[in-house]
Amino acid sequence: MTPLEELRHSASHILATALLRLYPDAKLDIGPPTDTGFYYDVDLDHKLTADDLVRLEAEMKKVAEENQPFLRKEVSREEATEIIKSRGQERYKLGRLADIPEGEKISFYQNGEFMDLCAGTHVRYSSKVKAFKLLSIAGAYHRGSEKNKQLQRIYGTAFATKEELAKYLEQVEQARHRDHRKLGKDLRLFVIDEDVGQGLILWTPNGSIIRQELQTFISEELRKQGYSQVFTPHIGKLELYKISGHFPYYKESQFTPVVENVSLAKILQEGCSCAEMVVRLDAVSAQMASQINKLTGTETITPDRILPDDKLLDGFMLKPMNCPHHIKIFSSQPHSYRDLPVRLAEFGTVYRWEQSGELNGMTRVRGFTQDDAHLFCTEDQLAPELIGCLSLVKIVLTTLGMHDYRVRVGLRDPDSNKYTGDPANWDKAEAACRGAAQALEMPFTEEAGEAAFYGPKIDFMVKDVIGREWQLGTVQVDYNLPIRFDLSYIGADNQSHRPVMIHRAPFGSLERFCGVLIEHFGGDFPAWLAPEQVRLVPISDKVFDYGHGLLAELKAAGVRATIDEHSDKLGAKIRRAELDKVPYALVLGAKEAEAKAVSIRSRARGDEGTLPFAEFLERLRTEISTRALPNKR
Ligand SMILES: [Zn+2]
Ligand SMILES: [Zn+2]
Repeated sequence: MTPLEELRHSASHILATALLRLYPDAKLDIGPPTDTGFYYDVDLDHKLTADDLVRLEAEMKKVAEENQPFLRKEVSREEATEIIKSRGQERYKLGRLADIPEGEKISFYQNGEFMDLCAGTHVRYSSKVKAFKLLSIAGAYHRGSEKNKQLQRIYGTAFATKEELAKYLEQVEQARHRDHRKLGKDLRLFVIDEDVGQGLILWTPNGSIIRQELQTFISEELRKQGYSQVFTPHIGKLELYKISGHFPYYKESQFTPVVENVSLAKILQEGCSCAEMVVRLDAVSAQMASQINKLTGTETITPDRILPDDKLLDGFMLKPMNCPHHIKIFSSQPHSYRDLPVRLAEFGTVYRWEQSGELNGMTRVRGFTQDDAHLFCTEDQLAPELIGCLSLVKIVLTTLGMHDYRVRVGLRDPDSNKYTGDPANWDKAEAACRGAAQALEMPFTEEAGEAAFYGPKIDFMVKDVIGREWQLGTVQVDYNLPIRFDLSYIGADNQSHRPVMIHRAPFGSLERFCGVLIEHFGGDFPAWLAPEQVRLVPISDKVFDYGHGLLAELKAAGVRATIDEHSDKLGAKIRRAELDKVPYALVLGAKEAEAKAVSIRSRARGDEGTLPFAEFLERLRTEISTRALPNKR
């Protein structure tokens, strides 16, 4: 553990100590450090409240001030069982003890009266934990599985100094104001409806405008880079994903296959059991097994998965990935090296099964649209294509004012043999990934062991305005799928060659990216993204006609504008425009009507005085067409 993790983990022991003082019946599970603090999972009949957190925190202060040493005690498995039982903590701790492999050391750490099964490490004395705070309580399934009991997770944080803690808490407060779930509701950007389903985003008209503008922007850049736009359906045959290997290997994160009526009727007639049905869905034909094993050169599909053709059960899947569909577009025509690279882009919607506890607004969902593309190229084209992928990301992030980001180049672990493909190609691909990051002068780190088994990859980590880091999408090199789908092109030597594939979805998904953007901008979108760009605010009904004239001109110019015809006071109308975070409110009175002028209230710059309308419109059109960021005074 790093010193900070050690501090935070020690704080979780102190929390458990305080918890047992206040609730002696509490059954403890685990309390690890996290990126931003620590938590402890506890099974307690009493439902903890915010007031309880205050009491717990006060008790933690006492424990810290008692200056208890953290003492390590190594014990045998039998002794460990005894200690756990004597403390009445067998409900979860015995299971955690069983997780420790035979032959590994078993240790407890004691501070004051509290003793916890733990490998360590900790600070020397509890008094080292000075700057901490309990933050929230959430439900968390034991071992993260919905099949298990839901426990209460107490979150807290700790820092080395009070100043760092204060800074972090300020950031949390900022984050709360910017929470995309709250802003999404206030600004009517998206909804999630129980009847439609958890984790399924309904983009409302306002949110759809933002999405559409982003798509247009990204599409323009893709066109400049020579991508072709494609569209593919939301489902595909199960067989397709058996070839690609997405099924059944990743079935935990996928929706269950759809079996169509004819097959369903047939298996019902055969009296097929549910268990048998699962086996039949997972199975492949002897022919497919031999084909894939031949192509991959190993026993990728083991004999136990093969069933006779009449036992195979066909079905469809909600697509978990767009790659197989794009591959089929590529392979629908013969290719020569002169056609390459082929770059197929799609805002492709995919579906993944996330446990309900993992779902979170727009950022963790079950259906999402990736800014996806697949590039099919020669080995020699890999390096320039990767540079192209990264430069696109750079352009988009710069336009959105996200200047603080880094890339992580994931390389293979030199000690592992799980990687597919020729080592010489791997060397080339890794060098190409590194070279691309260097060429674009992006700050990057290299991490061995972070590559996928089928190729190296580049991940994007972006910091938003309040310093939180978001992992967006990736660019991945793939040697595996071109083999499994037997892709080829004819080279300059007139021989058949295998293309290399690049998967890239640099922003991950539009849902997630929009969620991040809402928080990054705190709802104050630049004019080009704002659902409503201009609000006309007539002072009285005498200038309604003037207002409607301007509204027509704005609309004709493609500006998203509305007029506030409520009868309330000017102050209330301006306040409403502020709440809706409209970039420009134009106040219209008799004076303005006379001069065909507008009195401008800018969200970013405040009162800007009066300008002729034509001048304002020209300025706004430039601001929108250049996709300018809100320009503070
Ligand atoms: Zn510990
Ligand atoms: Zn892909």
